[in-house]
Amino acid sequence: MKITELGISGYERVAHAQDPASGLVALIAVHDTTLGPAVGGMRMWNYATESDALTDVLRLAEGMTYKSAVANTGLGGGKSVILGNARSAKTPALLEAMGRFIESFDGRYYGAEDVGICTADVEVVSKGTKWVTGLPRHLGGSGDPSPFTAWGVFLGLKAALAERFGTDEVRGRTVAIQGLGSVGMAVAQHLHAHGAKLMVTDIHEAVVQKAVAAFGARSVEPERIFDVPADVFAPCALGGVLNDSTLARLKCAVIAGAANNQLHEPRHGRVLMDKGLVYAPDFVINAGGVVNISAEFHAGGYDENVAREKVGNIGAAVASVLRLARERGIPSSEAALQLAQDRLAAGKADPKPH
Ligand code: NAD
Repeated sequence: MKITELGISGYERVAHAQDPASGLVALIAVHDTTLGPAVGGMRMWNYATESDALTDVLRLAEGMTYKSAVANTGLGGGKSVILGNARSAKTPALLEAMGRFIESFDGRYYGAEDVGICTADVEVVSKGTKWVTGLPRHLGGSGDPSPFTAWGVFLGLKAALAERFGTDEVRGRTVAIQGLGSVGMAVAQHLHAHGAKLMVTDIHEAVVQKAVAAFGARSVEPERIFDVPADVFAPCALGGVLNDSTLARLKCAVIAGAANNQLHEPRHGRVLMDKGLVYAPDFVINAGGVVNISAEFHAGGYDENVAREKVGNIGAAVASVLRLARERGIPSSEAALQLAQDRLAAGKADPKPH
């Protein structure tokens, strides 16, 4: 395996790996380990170019630093991407090679599930490294983080409703969900159980039909999801969906969903504010998964009750960021970033060994 250091400024380590034997081409970015070792998912995606993959891993790694800082996980920020189609190119040899790449970070980066990588895949990656989290429960890990992410998103969505409408009641609200994967489908389930009306979309028709059958959801073509009138737009697919084009089309009052890096550029946070939309910042509302993973680092090992209790704080975290933004007259995305940077500055001033 050939590992090349990319030396990107603002990051502690970014490396590229190519392993001709298994076909692995991957990137790992460690953004900041001030508050603890970097933990972030391994994303497998068919990027158009390596440059797209690099942009994605850098943004995702930085986002993990802020997510963990705001959620007080005691962890730092990092992420990895594997270039390729998860449905056709994922092999045990490739995943094991990814493990060996992670091993080269010697504990500064821990991998986990993400888009295209499930709990069973993490188990295969662990054949090449001990630095993984989110292993199946029977192997002592915290298992699939998605249900915890989804529960946190549901609580954060309620907090955003309360900020906008003065009540967090979900019953009767219409929510447009983009992406019905591990998190989006579970968010849909919570919303349906609490009486919301759902409009859903996904690029895979089978999951759309599942949501239509299970939740009485109305299906929408992927490109039309930005046009449907709804109280809430819940982006639960990929990043960059809040951009100049979509913001001109959205007909919702609240944006609250699981996707990472929802704002195409930081300035879109202000566009959202100026349009009077309440935006639950992505790295605050979607922290449930890493909060669950962080329970693996507790002395005595993973305890689901500890994890559940901490994920239960996400509604309050979203509410307090939205309040801070309102009081300061700044976009919620900026309020969240300030909070994260304050925590990092405090950590740098009082470093703890890890
Ligand atoms: P997933 O791969 O299980 O689901 C993503 C879904 O989005 C898939 O069903 C896919 O077909 C769909 N999709 C992709 N592009 C689409 C498009 N243009 N229109 C409609 N649907 C589209 O991933 P996931 O684990 O559910 O994660 C969803 C998002 O939440 C990602 O951005 C991920 O980074 C973020 N996130 C996930 C977790 C977690 O615990 N899994 C934690 C934090 C953040």
